[in-house]
Amino acid sequence: MSWGPRKTKKPKRNALAGSRQPRKRRFAIPHPSTGRDDGLRSRAEGDAAVIETRKAHERLRQAVDMLPQGIVILDPDGRYVLWNKQYAEIYSKTADLFEEGARLEDTLRVGVARGDYPEAAGHEEEWITERLKKLHEAGKRHEQTLSDGRVILIEERRTDDGGIVGLRVDITELKQREASFRLLFDGNPVPMIICALDDERILGVNDAAVAHYGYSRAEFEKLTIRSLQAFDSEPPWASDCSSDEQAGRTWKHVKADGGLIDLAIYSRELTYAETPSVLLALMDITERKRAEARLAFMAQHDGLTGLPNRSLLRQTMDEMLLHTRRSAEKVAVLMLGLDNFKAVNDTLGHAVGDKLLRGVAKRLRSTLREEDALARLNSDEFAIVQNGLARPEEAVLLAKRLSEAISDPYLLDGHSVVIGASIGIAMAPADGDDSEKLLKSADMALSRAKIDARGSFAFFEAALDAKAQSRRKIEVELRDAIQNDVLRPYYQPLIDLSSGRITGFEALVRWPHADRGMVSPADFIPVAEETGLINPLGGLMLRRACMDAVIWPDDVRVAVNLSPLQFRTGNLLSVVTEALKHSGLPPRRLELEITETLLLEKSSQVLATLHALRALGVRVALDDFGTGYSSLSYLRSFPFDKIKIDQSFVRDLGANREAQAIIRSIVSLGKGLGVTITAEGVETEAELSCLRAEGCDEGQGYLFSKARPNAEIIGLLAAQRGIDGGEAAALVA
Ligand code: C2E
Ligand code: MG
Ligand code: MG
Repeated sequence: MSWGPRKTKKPKRNALAGSRQPRKRRFAIPHPSTGRDDGLRSRAEGDAAVIETRKAHERLRQAVDMLPQGIVILDPDGRYVLWNKQYAEIYSKTADLFEEGARLEDTLRVGVARGDYPEAAGHEEEWITERLKKLHEAGKRHEQTLSDGRVILIEERRTDDGGIVGLRVDITELKQREASFRLLFDGNPVPMIICALDDERILGVNDAAVAHYGYSRAEFEKLTIRSLQAFDSEPPWASDCSSDEQAGRTWKHVKADGGLIDLAIYSRELTYAETPSVLLALMDITERKRAEARLAFMAQHDGLTGLPNRSLLRQTMDEMLLHTRRSAEKVAVLMLGLDNFKAVNDTLGHAVGDKLLRGVAKRLRSTLREEDALARLNSDEFAIVQNGLARPEEAVLLAKRLSEAISDPYLLDGHSVVIGASIGIAMAPADGDDSEKLLKSADMALSRAKIDARGSFAFFEAALDAKAQSRRKIEVELRDAIQNDVLRPYYQPLIDLSSGRITGFEALVRWPHADRGMVSPADFIPVAEETGLINPLGGLMLRRACMDAVIWPDDVRVAVNLSPLQFRTGNLLSVVTEALKHSGLPPRRLELEITETLLLEKSSQVLATLHALRALGVRVALDDFGTGYSSLSYLRSFPFDKIKIDQSFVRDLGANREAQAIIRSIVSLGKGLGVTITAEGVETEAELSCLRAEGCDEGQGYLFSKARPNAEIIGLLAAQRGIDGGEAAALVA
């Protein structure tokens, strides 16, 4: 690729400029006003001018050599006058032909013949004609490809003397960049659009954009980018955004078929078709957005009813509370629990249960105002948040409306289902000033409403909270006490009223508490029942009572209280058998006390267990008789060995004729059924003599003895042996 004309051709170039005939002549014109001397002088002047001209020419050559573009100057005949180093470099293959006075047409022909212009191949003459035409119609730009692959931009202009100045720019790199851009643009799977920065006209689109939007290229080019946007908003290259901020912005576009798509847009400014433009890469994120929205919805809503869940409700509540913080308005939280929903599920199946919940949700929603919030918190619990209240009574009105709306029958799969609800109400800010506290308060009020009466409502009371907290404390400590074997049975004697002798003892659990002294079972048995701790506690009492009683005289029984919950776990029978076996106590000496609530369940499993226990030889007593529901019918469902009249009847005995009548009838009932009748809570001699007069079999109460630790029982029994038939009152502690 040596072009080397600079050294070899330099003299020629300079010589040509100086030796061209017309120029010589011009320098030789004599001065009109001079004679011979003048002739000599004018020659000298002429020589000086020639030297000057050469110098000027050389200066011009040096100057054009400094230009980065190729420059060529032709005379009006199309002959080379001057060309620079870059020009010779561009046409290095034909550079050997360049010389001053040579015609460009001739060098072009030689070049074509040599194959320097691949575009001419096959139609050389035509190409040359076309090229010369362009030369003579100078002024337009055109491109030329050389055999080494370079692309040259040619621009030629006429000079005043009819010659031509030509400019050559090597645009090979630019062309390559353009080609790679086209390749990347056209073949890109990501839809791309180029649009003008000023009027937002779409200047170009790639195949992917055509396919994705459904517009043809021609249709696209009639549109602006703004006309694609679903919402009238700023284009993504908004001038107040940095390019970082622009990257990844999202947009919504309308497709040709009217469909909406979500897009992440990446933009970049460029010059396209000589127009300041922006290139947009449009990533369709419609599916991703939909999936994200679905996930976000699922995370905050209940799948069955579509209602907000606890987490969304809490957000909504906190916002509401923030708004009402500075106003006198109140916010009410209504916690609504369905009554006996479990029974619907159990009897009609889960499918009906689910439909019922959806039905309830629908009725609740249609009873509420738009601005009230509704959520499903648990399987059968809903929360309603009502704001803008002036008085708590407004919450009561709503509670009533909601109860009514729910209570109409639901027709589900051919079943007419009726369900009621209990409602707990908490008011902000009084019962809590954040969502968590308020929901907790409303929940406590609901528990209260459920206890009070089904289908009712209750307000939160601070006392409830204190009670709940003390219950939680009891639970924790009771668990510990059971684990560390702190609980003990105390024994209260049962006295045969005719002989005054001790027939047995009732085991009553005692909890010696480090800080609170002896804790009453009334305080912790309900907690044990709620938490399931009643099972280990009950088992423990059974084993202890049997172990203690086995050393008492053979005719003295021990009575142990059983909770209805112990029947539900299913292994009560084996716990009893195990306790008897382990202690060696004969079954006839064990009496189990149950209450009417157990029989309320009318469960065949409960009756089967009772029969099995009785078959073992264990006696069964009905405790607290008279306080339950339809007592008499239970006496038919199971053959009890003993009925214990609740102490509330004994308490009224002296003063109250009705109480006496009740005692009398229970005693005669016992006689008829062949069942022992025991009176609980005997405190006074008057009560005792009355009970005796009515023919009651047994008595138990502080008059005889309170419950005592086992260590004292032995002494008590020894005293009885000493008295041997003496007055029972002698046993009073
Ligand atoms: P309960 O089975 O009816 O036991 C009789 C309760 O009356 C005992 O209360 C006893 O101390 C009390 N009492 C006895 N004589 C008199 C009296 O003359 N006047 C008065 N005012 N009260 C008297 P305690 O020990 O506080 O037990 C309360 C209840 O706790 C028991 O009532 C029983 O239902 C339950 N309970 C006690 N121990 C156990 C147990 O080991 N397991 C189960 N499941 N429940 C138990
Ligand atoms: Mg009892
Ligand atoms: Mg009792």
